[in-house]
Amino acid sequence: MPGGKNSADTPVMRQYLAIKQAHPDAVVLFRMGDFYETFFEDAVRIAPVLGITLTTRDRTAPDPVPMAGVPYHALGGYLRTLVERGFKVAVCEQMETPEEARRRKGPNLVRREVVRVVTPGVRIDEEHLDEAAPNYLLAIAAGGGAYALAALDVSTAEFLVAHTTDRDLLRAKVVALAPAEVLVPSDLVEWVRSIFAGRSAPAIQPDPPAPGDEDLARVRTLAEESGTEALEPLEAAAAATALAYAAATQPGRSLLLHRLRRTDFRRAVVLDETSLRNLEVLANLRDGGRHGTLAWAVDRTKTAGGARMLRAWLAEPSTDLDVIAARLDAVEAFVAEPSVRRRVQSVLRDIRDLSRLAARARLDAIPPPQLAALRDSLAAVPRLAAILDELSARRTDGAGPVLLDIGEDRLDDLHARLAAMLVDAPPGSAKDGGVIRPGADEELDRQRALRDGGRKALSSIEARERGRTGIATLKVQHNRVFGYFIEVPKAHLAKVPDDYVRKQTLASVERYVTEELARHEADVLAAEARALVREKALLSELVAAVAAAGSRLCALADRLARVDVLAGFAEVAQDHGYVRPVLVEEPVLEVVEGRHPVVERLVEAGTFVPNDVCVRAGGVAAPDGAHARLWIVTGPNMGGKSTVMRQTAHIALLAHAGGFVPAARATVGLVDRIFTRVGASDDLARGESTFMVEMRETAQILAGAGRRSLVLLDELGRGTATYDGLAIAWAVAEHLHDQIGCRAMFATHYHELCALASRLPGAANVHVSVHESKGGIVFLHRLEPGPAERSYGIAVGRLAGLPPRVLARARRLLARFEAADAAGPQLDLFAAAPASLAGPDPSELRAFVERVAELDPDDLSPRMAFARLCELVEAAADLAGAGSDGGENPQEGGGSVGPGGGRI
Ligand code: ADP
Ligand code: MG
Repeated sequence: MPGGKNSADTPVMRQYLAIKQAHPDAVVLFRMGDFYETFFEDAVRIAPVLGITLTTRDRTAPDPVPMAGVPYHALGGYLRTLVERGFKVAVCEQMETPEEARRRKGPNLVRREVVRVVTPGVRIDEEHLDEAAPNYLLAIAAGGGAYALAALDVSTAEFLVAHTTDRDLLRAKVVALAPAEVLVPSDLVEWVRSIFAGRSAPAIQPDPPAPGDEDLARVRTLAEESGTEALEPLEAAAAATALAYAAATQPGRSLLLHRLRRTDFRRAVVLDETSLRNLEVLANLRDGGRHGTLAWAVDRTKTAGGARMLRAWLAEPSTDLDVIAARLDAVEAFVAEPSVRRRVQSVLRDIRDLSRLAARARLDAIPPPQLAALRDSLAAVPRLAAILDELSARRTDGAGPVLLDIGEDRLDDLHARLAAMLVDAPPGSAKDGGVIRPGADEELDRQRALRDGGRKALSSIEARERGRTGIATLKVQHNRVFGYFIEVPKAHLAKVPDDYVRKQTLASVERYVTEELARHEADVLAAEARALVREKALLSELVAAVAAAGSRLCALADRLARVDVLAGFAEVAQDHGYVRPVLVEEPVLEVVEGRHPVVERLVEAGTFVPNDVCVRAGGVAAPDGAHARLWIVTGPNMGGKSTVMRQTAHIALLAHAGGFVPAARATVGLVDRIFTRVGASDDLARGESTFMVEMRETAQILAGAGRRSLVLLDELGRGTATYDGLAIAWAVAEHLHDQIGCRAMFATHYHELCALASRLPGAANVHVSVHESKGGIVFLHRLEPGPAERSYGIAVGRLAGLPPRVLARARRLLARFEAADAAGPQLDLFAAAPASLAGPDPSELRAFVERVAELDPDDLSPRMAFARLCELVEAAADLAGAGSDGGENPQEGGGSVGPGGGRI
């Protein structure tokens, strides 16, 4: 490049700029020989992300162009990093070789084109995707107070829409779908960000291009073909937006579309965002992983499609009694025939991810080994069908559960074709041939025979020439530069005949060609090239056949995934003693000997204590507490309150998903929504324990819960000072009881709340029991009727190792407080602070300071440290509260983090 000239002003840079202009929002990886280069802003942005060197294209130019490149063979890894960091990447290839470009008439700049765009939400490559999770591109449309969303997973052809006027529902759905990328009008960007605040956030594309009429027509037709009721205009807009965006990433190819379904919020149990998270249905609270989640506990699927379907069922449990019954029937059939179930699962293990293979075939991105995997998977299908038929035959009515029918279309035709065409174990790439089986195609066989015959002829030349020349060390050889040649060691040069033409001289040998050799070589090369061309054509036809069968493959994949989930439910049921729940319309929830599906696996085997729960919407408490609408669960910290609440939610959820449940018996009345709220102290790890968040969530529950809902409130009101926390908890419990009347459980360490049960007919006290002895307390984890006798805080403190001095002091203080309480009716606690708390007692302050001073940070485990901190903050709150007029301090009442109110 001539110095002084702007380095951007060259033909190749002009070509680059034109391509970049067409993809302004993407990082363009521009193929130049063995590298993919980036320039300008792109280079500056990605160099640090990829840890590659940022250089310039022409150092001597006055205005050098920043540049950063990656070697072509390492594209996969770099692409993955960029996309995972939220970049959209356009891959621009050389569409011809430099030789081809030179031979071409006209400007001989190598032709380059963007062949695909990879974005977080539009990925199809195996190495980029988690096989057990979908990879959704989400589009949200809003207008006239209503919202619609469309979720498209191009890697599986999963496509669904939903619409609602309730933003909380929309939010819940967005969280459940866990999209990789969201297309959203710019005025909703902040809202979407807030949903994912602090958690693995998707890439967000504000104001995506509006879809064309063609896209709108396409999604409407697709919905119609899928038997989905006509799309709402907003739904069509969202679906078309997602489709247009995804389609634009695959120039010249068409995406696999199988069907478009609607999520009907009325036919699914809605788990709001907080509940999905708190119940650890799909991701745990600790690190967002799968360990310890409900999905982890019940997932025994053997295929990727099954794992994804299970996730979808858990995130969107059904409220359709027929749907649930059909699933339970199938699980029951497998439970009744464990050996059949095991055989089914062993065949399922041989089946690869059919829908993803189909989607890749459609985009012409399926390497030969994956075609072979498809062939082998399809070979397993008839075996599976035979086992399932056997299961039906054993049943008295001769018909198996409907959901275990994998249908008549088993893609036999496609399997036969793949089996006939492909070699057993094809190479990773088709570039050197060897993919198509001998005997599959006459023309290919002929060219291969010519090629092989020519090679043989060439080696016979060697023998003949040795005889003719008498040079025993003469060789016929081949290399890529000179093709075939005869090599003669220098010692024998005298014997070289005249018809040899010298081609190359090396240190110890001379290389020659002959006319005959050249002729044979041309034949071999021509046959080889023709064989390769033929082979590629056959392979394309094969891929096209798979692509054409895409929708049939997706349908089969769906049915196989269903069988997989159901067999998995049966396996867990058998291994862990789950039972078939009885689903009813009536809003009851009666669980006998229920267990927590996760905790029971994490504690020592056989030590988990089962518990009964019996609540009923609008119900009135029996003497033992059964059939109340509201259970107030008290008992010491670590007693098992949270566990029994969560297990109740898990059992309800699992029952609606169509699985068996960890209990001896369970009657589950349909639930429309499940709400759980976990108190600040349990949620600290996420750094979101502010009282404001707690109150906002509570407000959402009170606004969203109806009579059919299941509400589980755990330690409400902990995030503020004792008295206003207790007051709020009290008022919320009353509201749930009086206004909503739904099935509810309310766990609290405020044992003052127990007084509610005597005032509200539909509320009952239950408590987690402890055994108290001289040595301290033992948690029995057993739920029993009636209130907890006391809070046991000091006993727990002792168990945790508080120094005896502190314990003794605490006991004395407690006696004083209780004496003061006993002086007046308990409910008047809220009207005025007890006398004993009227002013900050200097001796108490001193005791507090001493308590802090006595702590030895080096001697505390993190867990103990946390427990101490909680106690200290509580004590400080009590002291500060006592300095004002109890809970009426406006600073606290406002929920701000004042000296008396705040928790961390
Ligand atoms: P709380 O909410 O009352 O403070 P948790 O429900 O968090 O108590 O339970 C504390 C611990 O006790 C759990 O982590 C678990 O190890 C154990 N636990 C709880 N319930 C049971 C049970 N039913 N059987 C056996 N162990 C239990
Ligand atoms: Mg708890």
